[in-house]
Amino acid sequence: MRLVLLGPPAAGKGTQAKLISDKNKIPHLSTGDMLRQAASDGTEFGLQAKKIMAAGGLVSDETVIEIVRDRLNADDCKNGFILDGFPRTLFQADTLGDMLRDKDTKLDCVVELRVDDTALIERVSGRFTCANCGEGYHDKFKKPSNPAHCDVCASMEFTRRADDTAETMRARLQTYYKQTAPLFGYYYVYKLLIGVDGMGDIQEIGNAIQDVLREAVT
Ligand code: AMP
Repeated sequence: MRLVLLGPPAAGKGTQAKLISDKNKIPHLSTGDMLRQAASDGTEFGLQAKKIMAAGGLVSDETVIEIVRDRLNADDCKNGFILDGFPRTLFQADTLGDMLRDKDTKLDCVVELRVDDTALIERVSGRFTCANCGEGYHDKFKKPSNPAHCDVCASMEFTRRADDTAETMRARLQTYYKQTAPLFGYYYVYKLLIGVDGMGDIQEIGNAIQDVLREAVT
């Protein structure tokens, strides 16, 4: 199963990608996570990316494409993957198509998570993750059962993303509508795009995506 999850920042792509990954035993490839890792490792390009991410812009196509190309060549991607946060531009989408064609394969499906803009701001301002295992939480929608501990690994440390502020979110949404929204038309033409309502309960959205995948992936 080779999938792309499309949707605005904070639409729940990371959360849903993790559910799909666990259920279908395919790796979850998040370019945002890869760039944040490079930034925290302090590599030169990671530090450059950090500034761009903090401003709500996009890291250069060339940089992101190289990261994704390397990752897709890894053994664990042979039987499929879920891309979360890539492609984000038409050039990235074209290049992804070329990369897969070179491997004699193609995408099975592009799932678009549809969420209201007002809900996005609310989601962004409340989300946080476990600093140890990366499990995602939200002040309102998904609290840990004991507020002091991660439900998965019991760690007591949580982090919030530096770009999860209302101000950066406005810039991220503008970037999204200018640069990423054209991908809907692009994948629609390839008959790959399927929209899923991304409002509501996490598990229900996950079930709706699984239903779509059962139909789309043969
Ligand atoms: P995300 O975690 O997907 O919300 O990504 C966080 C930030 O990383 C984005 O706002 C961009 O600055 C950067 N980023 C992630 N993926 C890409 C990509 N495919 N192309 C360019 N920049 C990206």
